[in-house]
Amino acid sequence: MRGLLEQGLAELGIAPPAGAVEKLMRYGQLLLEQNQVMNLTAITRPEEVATLHFLDSAALLGCAGLAGASLVDVGTGAGFPGVVLKVLAPDLRLTLVDSLGKRLDWLETVCQALGLEGVTLRHDRAEELAQEPDWREAFDFAAARAVADLRVLAELCLPFVRVGGRFLAMKAAGCQAEVDAAGRAVSVLGGRLLPAWHYAIPGTEVKRTVAAVEKIAPTPKGYPRRWARIRKAPL
Ligand code: SAM
Repeated sequence: MRGLLEQGLAELGIAPPAGAVEKLMRYGQLLLEQNQVMNLTAITRPEEVATLHFLDSAALLGCAGLAGASLVDVGTGAGFPGVVLKVLAPDLRLTLVDSLGKRLDWLETVCQALGLEGVTLRHDRAEELAQEPDWREAFDFAAARAVADLRVLAELCLPFVRVGGRFLAMKAAGCQAEVDAAGRAVSVLGGRLLPAWHYAIPGTEVKRTVAAVEKIAPTPKGYPRRWARIRKAPL
């Protein structure tokens, strides 16, 4: 895993801080161990954890200057992309949100094991949390990978982002139709679509896209709506 990570990070133009590669290797070990008893990932080969989880998550650093910024990872699951970003950019002010408490309990032990400081973990549904005044428009960035269709995801994520900040949705390549279909939702929620950012995951043939949205106006008070409403009538 070490060689793949070192080479892949170099290809992405990322200079890892001292000890970061070792931390990612430890994270991979903890992930695969815990995956025996808890459903965390369908990826079980260490090389694929390195590429499809770690390098994919790391690639987000090439698309936005995250140093010193605050970022909420919505639907973080086993910590992607948030934990990887924090390992590689230790001054990132990271918040992990997921609706599954057991995953966050495990992530807390991971943050301790990796010595990651200042990570906030919150067990909640994004659409409920984003209605809380302290959480609303409180972050420079919201990021999400593999959580929902962009129309839905925009409603879960954009309310967290301050005006002038960005929402970054990590998607498969070929998501242009999904991005186009989300145009109205993005605009209703106070956002403006930026040009998508394309990359390949080093060491693989996998191509990926980050759909980026700039927050240009506050999200109107009625959003996000309740989950049943979002699902039944996406914007
Ligand atoms: N982002 C991770 C990744 O890329 O591997 C996890 C993806 S997993 C398929 C989706 C995660 O989103 C799950 O852990 C689920 O519990 C969480 N999730 C789904 N809807 C959510 C919501 N409305 N609020 C918070 N978390 C949510």
